[in-house]
Amino acid sequence: MSFSHLGLSPKVLSAVTAAGFETPTPIQNQAIPHAVAGRDVLGIAQTGTGKTASFVLPMLTRLERGRARARMPRSLILEPTRELAAQVAEHFETLGKNHKLTVALLIGGVSYEDQDRKLDRGADVVIATPGRLLDHFERGKLLLNGIEIHVVDEADRMLDMGFIPDIERICKLLPFTRQTLFFSATMPPEIQRLADKFLHNPARVEVAPQATAAATIVQRLKRAPDDPAAKREALRALMREIDVKNAIIFCNRKKDVGILFRSLQRHGFSVGALHGDMDQRQRMATLDAFRNGQIAFLAASDVAARGLDIPDVSHIFNYDVPIHPEDYVHRIGRTGRAGREGYAAMLVTPRDMKALKAIEKLLRQDIEWIDGPQTEAEDAEGFDARSNGRHRRGRRGNRNKGGQAPQDGHGNVQRHDTQAQDKGEERRTEHSGRREKSGDPKRDQHKPHHHGDRKPTHGPQAAASSERPAPARATAKPQPQPPRPKQQGMGDHVPAFMMRPVRVT
Ligand code: AMP
Repeated sequence: MSFSHLGLSPKVLSAVTAAGFETPTPIQNQAIPHAVAGRDVLGIAQTGTGKTASFVLPMLTRLERGRARARMPRSLILEPTRELAAQVAEHFETLGKNHKLTVALLIGGVSYEDQDRKLDRGADVVIATPGRLLDHFERGKLLLNGIEIHVVDEADRMLDMGFIPDIERICKLLPFTRQTLFFSATMPPEIQRLADKFLHNPARVEVAPQATAAATIVQRLKRAPDDPAAKREALRALMREIDVKNAIIFCNRKKDVGILFRSLQRHGFSVGALHGDMDQRQRMATLDAFRNGQIAFLAASDVAARGLDIPDVSHIFNYDVPIHPEDYVHRIGRTGRAGREGYAAMLVTPRDMKALKAIEKLLRQDIEWIDGPQTEAEDAEGFDARSNGRHRRGRRGNRNKGGQAPQDGHGNVQRHDTQAQDKGEERRTEHSGRREKSGDPKRDQHKPHHHGDRKPTHGPQAAASSERPAPARATAKPQPQPPRPKQQGMGDHVPAFMMRPVRVT
């Protein structure tokens, strides 16, 4: 099938040809005819499938009729991150080159003035992150009752970032008669509920089974020690071992992105860093430098995991095993795009075995180890079995330093919390520091009060804690003590409550 059969306007078709698109991708084939006809669409598709064009092209066709009015945009696209929003704006630039549509990009981290000016002049298309859109709305700079087409992109990512209450609020501000195009890579129950609530008799189109990795990506695992310096060394060895053109290196925590970035720089790698705490200009500059080959490596948090279209990433390195298995699929989806070959390698420490199992379960496949298959003992208790428990001892030693971290296998819980904190900070940045609490139970459950007192009951962490030798103070021989003087009553110390005057009635 060619683009000319999808109901797109001649102007749009000419831009599609100029962009070099020859045949529509499956999501475009399925979604565009419904969207052009004005029907609601529920699209289940990952990034890299051409889903952006599957809503941009019909929007361009439909927006050819009518004009924008001041402060009353005609269409609204919501994106979870600034990068994705900027990327969609680029699609409008390329594919809308035959149209005189005004596009306003409303994202955090940049000044309001330019955005206000665009809205004042009248925008045909608003592409926004939810927080910034609501900021404009609350400042009275924007009316949403002229919206004819509404796109929610990456809905499951919105859920992860705690944006669902904002999305619901925005949907309620839109006219009932609008058209809604709703895209998500996966359909967890919360997203299904949202779709049921805000879509009217949608055409459901699905192009890939949920959360599967592209078959063109070679996936490998590499055993790594827990000790951070040794783990960084293992990463460098891996990066040198493999012939890498360019790569994104994912860490679970922003702090580690910074540490890894500086360390790789010191070791002579051409590297940049990308995480949610950086200001927008820095983020875009780093991405551009990576896209045009000025830097070969990008140390990144999950802010880079979804939707970023960097067409030619040869490798993905997971410095950390992601806590949420779906994040693995999104991370490695940055390579092997548009049918190209891709390679994704992940460092796995002994305490990552449980998270690894969850990933393999989601993928419904075992990932191959670079240095030989897993032994049964490793399978049972993490690969300390292979290294005589060296990692476990090292980890306890490290964690006791400073006395802040729990003493035994609490690694999982702590990493969970920190990762959620990382996402939380990204959310705050997205919202210009305005919203601190989402009210989303999924988000709020990751609060630091979980630290410390939760003990694993199964898995490698449990095995580690039950095998741990008793603490030194319990096994040390009692030392002879000098005789103490015999104490009368409570001795010198009288508790304060006993000194209080007693009122006799
Ligand atoms: P997306 O899934 O929207 O992030 O798109 C992934 C990449 O595929 C982008 O670089 C698009 O420009 C490109 N693309 C989208 N549709 C087509 C098509 N029909 N033919 C070739 N490339 C496409």
